[in-house]
Amino acid sequence: MSYFRPAIDAMTGYIPGEQPKPGTKIIKLNTNENPYPPSPKAMKVLQNLDSEWLRRYPDPFAREFCRAISDALGVPTDWIIVGNGSDDLLNILVRCCAEGNERKVVYPMPTYVLYRTLSAIQPAQVVEVPYYADFQLPIEELVAANGAITFIASPNSPSGHLVPLDDLRKLAQGVSGIVVIDEAYVDFADYTALPLVEEFDNVIVLRTLSKGYSLAGLRMGFGIANPKLLSGLFKVKDSYNIDAIAIAVGTAAMEDQAYKNACAEKVKLSRSKLVVELKNLGFTVLDSQGNFVLATPPAGNAESIYLALKELGILVRYFKQAGLEDKLRITVGTEEQNQALIEALVSLI
Ligand code: PMP
Repeated sequence: MSYFRPAIDAMTGYIPGEQPKPGTKIIKLNTNENPYPPSPKAMKVLQNLDSEWLRRYPDPFAREFCRAISDALGVPTDWIIVGNGSDDLLNILVRCCAEGNERKVVYPMPTYVLYRTLSAIQPAQVVEVPYYADFQLPIEELVAANGAITFIASPNSPSGHLVPLDDLRKLAQGVSGIVVIDEAYVDFADYTALPLVEEFDNVIVLRTLSKGYSLAGLRMGFGIANPKLLSGLFKVKDSYNIDAIAIAVGTAAMEDQAYKNACAEKVKLSRSKLVVELKNLGFTVLDSQGNFVLATPPAGNAESIYLALKELGILVRYFKQAGLEDKLRITVGTEEQNQALIEALVSLI
């Protein structure tokens, strides 16, 4: 007899990308971290943190941080929920809304694999709808599936494409459940779907400090939606899901929008150059609005390139998932890191 529920025995756990110890001499382009350090103002808060912050429990609602978000994005503080990374909020959403065959989880494929893992844990039935050619959103199929939750990552990972706002509007209008717009990579993109939270009471937009704000190690994300939608999520969230260090440091990072925007501009510039250089080597590369690109090598040998790069101390992401077998997802690094990658690829191709 198993110790576990049948759903847990049946599922495959989520396998994150390799995370070598910081300080090791590795060029790490595999999990879409920002290559630049966090805001110096945030680092200063970390260095000067009073011990009182650690002696006491943190604010369950991270109100200081919500105030900083409100100032930066112009949304009311009671339209914000904070999570231990946006993964925490994805988890809370599935716990709140999905169940069995009646309350399905729906998303277009390929996308962020965690949506599938969380649904398997619940368990809730998933409907995975393939994207049309050129990553057009399959709106009719998604609406017909009528999920209790529909997840749309925009920019999407691993493709990097951004979903048009009118497609998201049709989806929000067409389904009776919640539409989650996962904007983990929005800081590198041309537009946000944030205005939709005012237009539709079933839309929530998720953000993270892991990418644009260079704080993946802090584990901080947030969701924006009307207070009625958030009220259910607050019932399920852990009381102290955000630790005191994250609240202090994350607030300072959120207040330093100028620094975040300057880093994002550098990444966007390097992204354009990287795309050109990969294309010059014969790769097929999708236009990306994230801090990564999805590239297909000319000889269809993505797995062996991934392994050879790893031998050379360069980590990129190789997915074993159907439809992604010949592709590599490469995070945009600093100029020097991108050059080292290109030089390594020249020697391998
Ligand atoms: N959504 C997408 C599409 C992602 O790629 C990631 C990062 N792997 C996340 C959410 C989770 O980000 P966080 O670090 O905030 O949990």
